[in-house]
Amino acid sequence: MSTPALEAPPLPPPDYRVPYPRWRAWGHALLDAARARLDRLRLAGAGAAIELGAIVHTEAIAHPDVFAPLVELLRFFREATGTPMVVCVIPAPNPMVRGLLAAHAMSAGAFDDRVRALAAEAVIGYHGHYFHPPAPDGRPRPMRHAGFDAARFRVQLCADLAWFAGLGIVPRLYTGGWWVLTRAIVEALDAAGIAGDFTLRPHGRNSFGEPYDLDLPALDGRPFPLAAGLWELGSCGSLWRYPADTSRWRAHRPAETGRRFVGLSFHDYDVLSYRGAFRRTIRALCGVPGARWAAFDAPDLPGAR
Ligand SMILES: [Zn+2]
Repeated sequence: MSTPALEAPPLPPPDYRVPYPRWRAWGHALLDAARARLDRLRLAGAGAAIELGAIVHTEAIAHPDVFAPLVELLRFFREATGTPMVVCVIPAPNPMVRGLLAAHAMSAGAFDDRVRALAAEAVIGYHGHYFHPPAPDGRPRPMRHAGFDAARFRVQLCADLAWFAGLGIVPRLYTGGWWVLTRAIVEALDAAGIAGDFTLRPHGRNSFGEPYDLDLPALDGRPFPLAAGLWELGSCGSLWRYPADTSRWRAHRPAETGRRFVGLSFHDYDVLSYRGAFRRTIRALCGVPGARWAAFDAPDLPGAR
């Protein structure tokens, strides 16, 4: 029986190589080093226990130039921080993955092997991208907040989770594709046993500029429940640039002792352009006072069940 998820045709992959001029890399390196030095002074005694996580959204692990550098980065991260990275994977039934497999003549089995290899180096989470049926001219139609089709989404989610189960992986962490998060997604993730979400960004909008239709407090790193067992940990910065604004990492009151979770996100295809920048940022953040790296393994999360 065909399902709506599988009726969606594979999507032709974009050109993932982002030009990144050397002068820009050097400019960023100088600025980032200055910010990191300033933070060592500013955050010393800031009063909050800051738990930093590096969260990868994988979209291109079938790309011949992405997988090996990604694995290298995961190993570097583990060695430098003593903690595994979080790798949120788009499952094989997704039309984006099927398009990439077709473009690079990779079998579904070889893709699964790559995910197993990532699981040996990192904590595996789930990266969900959901689609409406394609437009009459064949263009893909991402599911955004407006016109979200909860029934169609649930069919895709079930196919995705069944694929994870086939690999023996039970994801506990989630990142939304295009930074989309709706009430229907929250409820379905909670029911599926997902314990931590890293979708929400401090400015409160998805990639399409739509605000979240969820009742949200300020996103400053303090975790809060989205549902009975699902906690928002927040995507509070990017890993390829030193976080621009760490002022929200500080405790609000001198007596504050709660945990703060700061998810620093990037895409797997960013390794094509920013490999050196990732290493620099990781090294710089290793020296920030009061911060430690965390893998957000489920037993350690506030809503652990
Ligand atoms: Zn994505």
